[in-house]
Amino acid sequence: MDASRTELADLALRTSLNRDVARQRTALISETLLSRSRSLRDPNFRAIHADDLALLFDSYDAAFLRGGCRRALGSLRLDFRISTRMTRAGGKTFRYSPRRGDPWFEIAVSAPLLFQTFRDVDRSVTVCGCECGHRLDALLRIFEHELIHLVELLAWNESECSESRFQGITSRLFGHAAHTHNLITQSERAAAQFGLRPGSRVRFQHEGTDYDGILNRVTKRATILVEHPRGERYSNGRRYIKFYVPLEQLILLDPVRR
Ligand SMILES: [Zn+2]
Repeated sequence: MDASRTELADLALRTSLNRDVARQRTALISETLLSRSRSLRDPNFRAIHADDLALLFDSYDAAFLRGGCRRALGSLRLDFRISTRMTRAGGKTFRYSPRRGDPWFEIAVSAPLLFQTFRDVDRSVTVCGCECGHRLDALLRIFEHELIHLVELLAWNESECSESRFQGITSRLFGHAAHTHNLITQSERAAAQFGLRPGSRVRFQHEGTDYDGILNRVTKRATILVEHPRGERYSNGRRYIKFYVPLEQLILLDPVRR
């Protein structure tokens, strides 16, 4: 194994920070991000760009890993992406291994989860077991988690956040108490804001025509099943056509009682 990867493994396993020190470092990272970012203006920012993740990477690597992650990457490519499709995971870290050429890495963060949270559903939000007061808190906790996935991939070629090695590192470095989040999903928002739940009868317009249907599920948009003789046959024996409709365009016909 090359020396920079061994160094990174050592740093990850041996660094243990007291909570105040870690908090000071992340506070500085927050300030730096807000002052340098072209998208983030305040802690409940309304836009985010992949460049912001690149900035976070440099800050975190310097503040928590003495630049060891960049050294272990060497000339390997690391990309950042804001995902508009991730509706469950707050973040994801990928290693791509093309048949020819070097592997490369990517860290993606979910825009839907960040922007649905701290919006119109009011409840306490935790990411990695840490209470978050605003979007910036949530973003930092997600990023810290993904950074350790990258560290593990570089140092050990595999990474698993349900395992004790991962949880030991995130706990000693960042004080994470969990590897999960309870960010607000689109389906929770649908239920809380609009009373929309799977099974709800809804009405919507499509190309000037009104349709009545049944709400099937909510991801980015709602999936509505409309009964139609030419539709696909479902397990209840009826035929339905599927429509994907933004939540805001749905009218609830009769609330489902739970
Ligand atoms: Zn994970």
